Amino acid sequence: MSNTANTTPRQLPPGLDQAKFQSFLSRAWDICGTENVDVISPTTELKDGHYMDPCKAHDMHAVYERDYFVASAVLFPRNVPEVQQLVRLANEFVVPIWPFSIGRNTGYGGTAPRVPGSVGIDLGKHMNKVIEVNEEGAFALVEPGVTYFSLYEHLVKTGLDQKLWLDVPDLGGGSIIGNAVERGVGYTPYGDHWMMHCGMEIILPNGELVRTGMGALPNPDSSPDLPPHEQPPNKCWQLFNYGFGPYNDGIFSQSNLGIVVKMGIWLMPNPGGYQAYMITFPRDDDLPKIVDIIRPLRLQMVLQNVPTLRNILLDAAVSAPKSSYTSEAGPLSEAKMDEIAAQLDLGRWNFYGAVYGPEPVRNVLLTVIKEAFLSIPGSKLFLPEDRKEPHSVLRTRAKTLQGIPTIDELRWVNWVPNGAHLFFSPISKISGKDANLQYEVTRRRCTEAGFDFIGTFTVGMREMHHIVCIVFNREIEDERLRARWLIRTLVKDCAANGWGEYRTHLALMDQIANTYNFNDNALMKLNETVKNALDPNGILAPGKNGVWPQSYEKSKWVL
Ligand code: ADP
Repeated sequence: MSNTANTTPRQLPPGLDQAKFQSFLSRAWDICGTENVDVISPTTELKDGHYMDPCKAHDMHAVYERDYFVASAVLFPRNVPEVQQLVRLANEFVVPIWPFSIGRNTGYGGTAPRVPGSVGIDLGKHMNKVIEVNEEGAFALVEPGVTYFSLYEHLVKTGLDQKLWLDVPDLGGGSIIGNAVERGVGYTPYGDHWMMHCGMEIILPNGELVRTGMGALPNPDSSPDLPPHEQPPNKCWQLFNYGFGPYNDGIFSQSNLGIVVKMGIWLMPNPGGYQAYMITFPRDDDLPKIVDIIRPLRLQMVLQNVPTLRNILLDAAVSAPKSSYTSEAGPLSEAKMDEIAAQLDLGRWNFYGAVYGPEPVRNVLLTVIKEAFLSIPGSKLFLPEDRKEPHSVLRTRAKTLQGIPTIDELRWVNWVPNGAHLFFSPISKISGKDANLQYEVTRRRCTEAGFDFIGTFTVGMREMHHIVCIVFNREIEDERLRARWLIRTLVKDCAANGWGEYRTHLALMDQIANTYNFNDNALMKLNETVKNALDPNGILAPGKNGVWPQSYEKSKWVL
């Protein structure tokens, strides 16, 4: 950064003038080096990039104007003490900072900050070490920049992939820490990433470093001369989540109370065998029957993994764009969807699962699964080798369900030209009646907004994450506006039915937080009390998940 012209941002942080911003920057340069400070100037083109090379200061799938949720600058600290110093600097200048690990966060806002003009803190660029993979304990300890791809590569390189399996989400480019703290999911038996994390090292809003759980108990072999972040951890840090006393980890997920700089994640011991499968169901109204079959099997763990039940258009979109199926505009008709399903030899609903274990175990499980699902007329079971089409979802899922990361599922975003997407993600009971109602409500609104319904049910331990993929053309303003109308209406409709979302895009955080309002917003009051106690200057990710610090006049900021 050689001249001051480059230090004028497109959007100043709230409350700062250019001179103060300039002083903040020069201090940031001293901390992490000029090469690790990028100012987003009025002439910086806001290029979206692409999944493998995402933009760092705005949302690649913008539903508002690209330069609305935009950072003033992005900093790339090289180590834990630099992050601590930057946090202290942010307090001194009262600058909002927005930490992220990799910044893909696709469909939920990417790297974009909630408060325009915040300073992005890219933790992943330099802090990307796999600190440890422990074979005996079946866990890894990672830094923010470790992605599913990079941990997988590490396992392959060290030969440990034969012993330990990773759990990966649909796309492998995300950060293991970023995904877990946002409570993202994958699809092996270890699919609930937050459940499978164990032990975190966190920088608090005042710059202090904390290790949670067993990490708070010093390792007797550590030298007191080492700085805290370099001290070898307690040997049980990644083995027992809770430690002693209040269990704090939860307040650091989907939150604005800390910056996670190390985290443990459990890996799955190689189960000794594996078989992925797909079951197709021909009719749209098979949905309730399928879901009622899923529930007991999943609760009994006959369904060992996190299976998914996908609507035909999700798989059709992986196969080819909409224009290859029809030249008509507007949502596809029932008849057309039946035609597409027949053309692709898929069902209107398609269920993807896997069985794990030595052959006799797999055979028994698969027999029970087949008996249960194939009772639905017209249903068919396929194994990966049965599918010869070029973009077979089953063949991709066969990788995902054994923890091999891919990016094949990116293809469905190209359903429309200049495809962008927003995720609408309500939780549903695993009950045919509930799932069907939720499907009807969401599909009706998608149609009303002029979009195809593209969705999937992801089956957790006791519930389903119903992921509705709102795919729109990012270059057409009317489509962006309709996508916004749709998602806001869906939040309202779902709350009226008692359904809430598990995670959301930046633009919806206030609205959704406001639906979790039992007993006069008691939960939000608790969240705000904790926020104000830990972050009195309100510097860390203000507004994230609807939690605003006292220093912000909330009514002026909510969207
Ligand atoms: P992805 O893994 O998809 O690339 P991100 O790195 O963008 O995800 O993280 C998603 C969100 O999670 C961020 O916007 C931020 O709110 C939160 N987050 C990610 N990493 C951290 C971290 N290390 N500490 C605190 N919050 C984080």
